[in-house]
Amino acid sequence: MIVEEVYAKTILSKSKVFEYTINPYVGCEHGCTYCYARFMKRFTDHKEEWGKFVDVKINAATLLKQEIQKKRPGRVWISGVCDPYQPLEKKYELTKRCLEILLKHRWPATIQTKSPLVLRDVGTLKKSDKLEVGLSITTADENIRRIFEPNAPPIEQRIENLEKLHFAGTKTFAMIAPLLPKAEDLPTQLNGKVDYVLIDKMNYHYADRVYKRHKLEYAMTNNFFTQKKIELASAFEKEGIPYQFLF
Ligand code: SF4
Repeated sequence: MIVEEVYAKTILSKSKVFEYTINPYVGCEHGCTYCYARFMKRFTDHKEEWGKFVDVKINAATLLKQEIQKKRPGRVWISGVCDPYQPLEKKYELTKRCLEILLKHRWPATIQTKSPLVLRDVGTLKKSDKLEVGLSITTADENIRRIFEPNAPPIEQRIENLEKLHFAGTKTFAMIAPLLPKAEDLPTQLNGKVDYVLIDKMNYHYADRVYKRHKLEYAMTNNFFTQKKIELASAFEKEGIPYQFLF
């Protein structure tokens, strides 16, 4: 893993998902095979494979302190193109410090991660009902998870994290995106641990070869998604969990 400390020019960027996004890191140690953030490579000088480099924006909190004074409040997505709680966050605490600044200014934020490290900041998170945390969970099957997300935490741990956050009084959601095969058990497993669930399908572009290599091509067809939509909708309704499909 090549880790480089860098000085960013800005930290609070405009986003299409929410008003703003903060990415304290460029690159992600989780290196998921389907990650759409791989396109970030185009904007960096990195020759390394996605998942093998991380630039650490060591001035992230200093920048945010300045920028937050000048911009109109709006929801911040943490993060769009990296996992804000990837292992390096333990040492650098950039996400933690940004979160504290957002809390101080009463800005709303939506955190999206796969990492148990988010629990470290539960004290900050539970101080505001404007802060919510989503754990990305793409399948209920560890074998499938290992194919697509070999360096990310196991599914069981992510579900446990949701439970702990929810129990601590933080608003939680599960992001089932991209929807992979064998997600059928998730509605039952998520019961009592989330406020809502979002579901989206795969960006085929990067997954094509991985799917073929593992003989999972069926999961790229429209039939697969139509079928899963029906099954998951019915299962989430049965569990009484609000859900939304983004496809
Ligand atoms: S955790 Fe998220 S940002 Fe990181 S590689 Fe996986 S999909 Fe990409």
